[in-house]
Amino acid sequence: MSERAYDTSDTKTLFLGTNDGLQKSITCAAELLKAGKLVAFPTETVYGLGADVTNPDAIAKVFEAKGRPSDNPMIVHVANLGGIETCAEMDDRVRLLVNAFMPGPLTLVLPSKESVPLIARAGLPTVALRIPEHPVALELIKHVGPLVAPSANISGRPSPTTARHVIDDLAGRIAAVLDGGLCRVGIESTVLDLTQSVPVILRPGVITQLEIEGVLKDKVLLSEEGNESALEIEEAVKKDIPRSPGTKYRHYAPGIPIRLVIDQSIPEVRSSGQLVLTTERHKDRFREREVMVLSEAMLYEQFRRAEKAGYEGILIYAQPGELSEGLLNRVKKAEEE
Ligand code: AMP
Ligand code: MG
Repeated sequence: MSERAYDTSDTKTLFLGTNDGLQKSITCAAELLKAGKLVAFPTETVYGLGADVTNPDAIAKVFEAKGRPSDNPMIVHVANLGGIETCAEMDDRVRLLVNAFMPGPLTLVLPSKESVPLIARAGLPTVALRIPEHPVALELIKHVGPLVAPSANISGRPSPTTARHVIDDLAGRIAAVLDGGLCRVGIESTVLDLTQSVPVILRPGVITQLEIEGVLKDKVLLSEEGNESALEIEEAVKKDIPRSPGTKYRHYAPGIPIRLVIDQSIPEVRSSGQLVLTTERHKDRFREREVMVLSEAMLYEQFRRAEKAGYEGILIYAQPGELSEGLLNRVKKAEEE
């Protein structure tokens, strides 16, 4: 069985490999979860810190292990439409979106059924649900049932996109991590609130406003600073559209300063200790510097790598309109002090 206590002696966190012995690793993870323990597992977005949704004590341990504020609700991960139905009230919009995008990096906020414990939804009458598009995640949910799974990092740190990132943040605090390599998408899911008549994107991701509007054949609001028109905000406020509790917290940030420049011209790099992240088009314009190409899939890995390698800071440069709404949102949040 390809399982071992990771690294040396100071942690009891199991590292469950999936290259060989995949089924054994999944069975072991499922047993731990059923026993109320915490297991981190790969999804296509980022690694999730899983706990059995029917076990409020296990969910309390997730808040504790992450240092997550108790007013920040968690996403419940289910395997299929039936899983959504057991947790929430559905309408035709849900069916359309599930057909178009799920399994995949889209989370729906819906009126909750009582089956979802209040602690998972931070006391809210609503619940966030998603069907992950990762065979290991789906298999685990089929063994255990729905799992709460916020990102498997210490709150405020960049989300983990490899099992190593999970170990770096949570070794000794969780029972195990299932290794699935690098996450394909690399940033968190798009969160879409469907609890009002007007759908609102609470957190942008790789599934875009335009794509969702195309499927719903309806206007969708984007509830992010700088991305919504005044009229849209006013309308949202008038209709008392809720914002996502998690968006008020600082997020996605490495332990070194980030400077974001969106401009036509190349900025001055103030110190040689800066890592430059930019788009493919501009990477040769910083020839003298350490330069890496920006992408959703590599963003958090680059944040963590820069921090470990001792860089003083990260300069992120793009021209207006070059970054996707998900990427722009994450780098803006990481830049906030
Ligand atoms: P994460 O902790 O990375 O899994 O992110 C989960 C995101 O979903 C956070 O921004 C939460 O605030 C948001 N979320 C979860 N449940 C709800 C809910 N019931 N209503 C609004 N936002 C939610
Ligand atoms: Mg998170």
